[in-house]
Amino acid sequence: MTQNFKIGSTYTSTVEASVTDETDVIVAGGGTAGCVAAIAAARNGTDVLLVERYGFLGGMMTAGNAGLTKYIVHEKSQSEYRKVIAELATNPSSVQVVGGIPMEITERLLDMKAGIGTDGTAGSYVFTSSEDFKWLLLTMLEEAGVNLLLHSLVVDVIKEGNTIRGVIVENKSGRQAILAKIFIDATGDGDLAAKAGVPFVVGVGPNDFSAKHGVKLNTTQDMGVMFRVGNVDMKRCFEYLKENPDKFQVQGCALLSLEQARENFEKGEMMTINVDTDFSSPNDFQIYNTPLPGVFTICCPCFPGNGLSASDLTKAETALTKKVRKWMLKMKEMPGFENTFLLNCPQVGVRETRHIQGEYVLTIEDIFKSREFEDGIGKGAHPIDVQPIPESLKKHSLPHKWQFNIPYCCLVPKGIDNLLVAGRCISTTHEASGCTRTTVQCMITGEAAGTAGAMCVKENIRPRDLNADELKKMLKEQRVVL
Ligand SMILES: Cc1cc2nc3c(=O)[nH]c(=O)nc-3n(C[C@H](O)[C@H](O)[C@H](O)COP(=O)(O)OP(=O)(O)OC[C@H]3O[C@@H](n4cnc5c(N)ncnc54)[C@H](O)[C@@H]3O)c2cc1C
Repeated sequence: MTQNFKIGSTYTSTVEASVTDETDVIVAGGGTAGCVAAIAAARNGTDVLLVERYGFLGGMMTAGNAGLTKYIVHEKSQSEYRKVIAELATNPSSVQVVGGIPMEITERLLDMKAGIGTDGTAGSYVFTSSEDFKWLLLTMLEEAGVNLLLHSLVVDVIKEGNTIRGVIVENKSGRQAILAKIFIDATGDGDLAAKAGVPFVVGVGPNDFSAKHGVKLNTTQDMGVMFRVGNVDMKRCFEYLKENPDKFQVQGCALLSLEQARENFEKGEMMTINVDTDFSSPNDFQIYNTPLPGVFTICCPCFPGNGLSASDLTKAETALTKKVRKWMLKMKEMPGFENTFLLNCPQVGVRETRHIQGEYVLTIEDIFKSREFEDGIGKGAHPIDVQPIPESLKKHSLPHKWQFNIPYCCLVPKGIDNLLVAGRCISTTHEASGCTRTTVQCMITGEAAGTAGAMCVKENIRPRDLNADELKKMLKEQRVVL
């Protein structure tokens, strides 16, 4: 019988998928958190398959030019911040909140001269060359013995009661089913968990300050692009800014004075500066150096929308491509940037979509109070990065000796017995995710999820039954700072 299709009607079909593989752990998403999760699970003795929709690894760090932030406690003022940096150089463990695989990655990047970090150490911000980063991830995954399936999108799950039996992936070969004992959702958007029926909140939820202050429920942070430009004469730019101090701003991530930024730059260390060039959002024009001579990352034209909507993503790509072009033309008017060119602007970056609901939901109050958790699997030190920051939160935005703890139960989704989440989709409120969604924090949750996943396979237990002390012991042995 032929069906009469019109817009709004539904097409139903049965699509077959052959079971092609079986493994211990499947990690969905080979981005910031997923690669670390896969390495941790494999190093802990399990067979791991990492499934990634693109042909390369690294997620937002390679497809979005993001830097590695934040390794050390954050201090209120710039002078205090510099004290921390100085302390880091002499006594790293006193202020270091990150160890384990994220630190190993950073050290390897710095050793390869493919990373650039504050004060020459793995300090507060490290920028990498994306191509070297892709290579390093492949190398580390290979060393750990992780199996890879690239160009493959996880589109569905096979469920038996509360247990996931397998994932359905779609790629150029068609549809395949792959079975595993434990699944780790590191897709950023929580695609796998959502398909498995785990509850989630998109963007602002009812318990956020923002909701109480009039921001509409489900509002997500803007999407944005970090793009890279080549052939910049930064020396000339510094001279221009010295003569035009009103164009230079100390704010946001750019906490260095002009002199300090110049000093860092000349020493080949990380620097971030904010420049007011009368772009549409002047405060957002930040320049970061990279390990590549003459190459700089520029941040960050933004666009509102829902990162789970293909239509909004398309609108964002279209609008931001045009915006970057405008910025490029404006930028060329600035001394030092006259001969610059757009090196890359891979694709729009999504800051926020689903917050998968776990056994615990981390709140901004937990973060402000540096609440300790018995099952804490790592620390973070990133100040709250939600845009716009609600007035009521502003006074809290950079507390003294800022550091917070991430509990394991935020990685354990409700309702499913063999699933863990890692990365930006872990169980937090919208505002707490402004602290936990940064790259290094995502890697920390990746290492914990991978390690926990491997332990669960070996002990044949559910992630929610894992002994947190045993997990912490294992993480400590991996140099994770707890
Ligand atoms: C514009 C912008 C700038 C930023 N700048 C910084 C910064 O400078 N410093 C910082 O610390 N943080 C920054 N962030 C935040 C940070 O980059 C991300 O929040 C973090 O990298 C997210 O890590 P993740 O592993 O959760 O997701 P991702 O790194 O995005 O990785 C998810 C991976 O899963 C894959 N995937 C998705 N769905 C599927 C599927 N269904 N099947 C298979 N694979 C799938 C994706 O292709 C991707 O590789 C920025 C974010 C944005 C948007």
